[in-house]
Amino acid sequence: MPEDIEKLKAENEKLQKLSDFKSDVISISAHELRTSLSALKWILKMFIDGDIGAISVEQKTFIKKAFESNERMIGLVNEMLSVNHADDISLKYTPENVDVVELVESVLFDFVGESFKKNIQVIFLKGEQKLPKAFVDPYKARVVLQNLVDNAIKYSNFGSKIFVSLSIKENAGKKEIEIAVKDNGIGIPAADQVKIFEKFFRAENAKQKNEVGSGLGLTTARNIVTRWEGKIWFESKEGGGSNFYFTLPVKN
Ligand code: ADP
Repeated sequence: MPEDIEKLKAENEKLQKLSDFKSDVISISAHELRTSLSALKWILKMFIDGDIGAISVEQKTFIKKAFESNERMIGLVNEMLSVNHADDISLKYTPENVDVVELVESVLFDFVGESFKKNIQVIFLKGEQKLPKAFVDPYKARVVLQNLVDNAIKYSNFGSKIFVSLSIKENAGKKEIEIAVKDNGIGIPAADQVKIFEKFFRAENAKQKNEVGSGLGLTTARNIVTRWEGKIWFESKEGGGSNFYFTLPVKN
């Protein structure tokens, strides 16, 4: 019966939407969780390594336990992300007016421990101009920036500097905000540059640096930026650092 088929189709679509929504919620929560756990990890590590003053043997034993338990949680969250197909994150999208300066400051705050540990200075260049609000889903914009800052720190050497800057651009008569994350790290080998946004791809020099990675961060970032019809791109030189950029739309 054609009506029955139509009904089934409609039911199926409804279920699919619901399932998409669920993976989306899991992806966003997992990304947020991972960033917070990772911030905690570095703070605990600073205590264990005595970077912020000496602690007693007993205190160290407890903090080590907290560190290990935190590591297990990070592992779990990573598993959640891979099972859940982290790149499905762009499905549900609820844009609103977002203050980009506040967004950047709050993302950078989550990385204070990690950058301190590697003695990396993260410098935020807000620019002179008062920026208009961006019209994006704030959680998704957060995930994009988190991925870029996370990579910049991961692939930078001890004692280096990272610059995050904002500027206003015009594209086809429309205003947009451009966020740039610049590092002086290991860079991306020329031959690998075309593959960098592919799912699971990790360049050899990144693997050698032995930093943990899933090769999903940039795929996720690109999927999100595509959702608001923005651009994401980079300039990089092996051994000479990387500049990653993405754009956010502004409501006219
Ligand atoms: P990963 O979890 O491996 O960091 P990403 O998808 O975020 O995954 O990045 C994919 C690959 O792109 C990385 O494994 C690395 O080879 C390269 N990459 C990304 N950002 C940088 C950077 N700032 N400096 C050097 N290489 C980078």
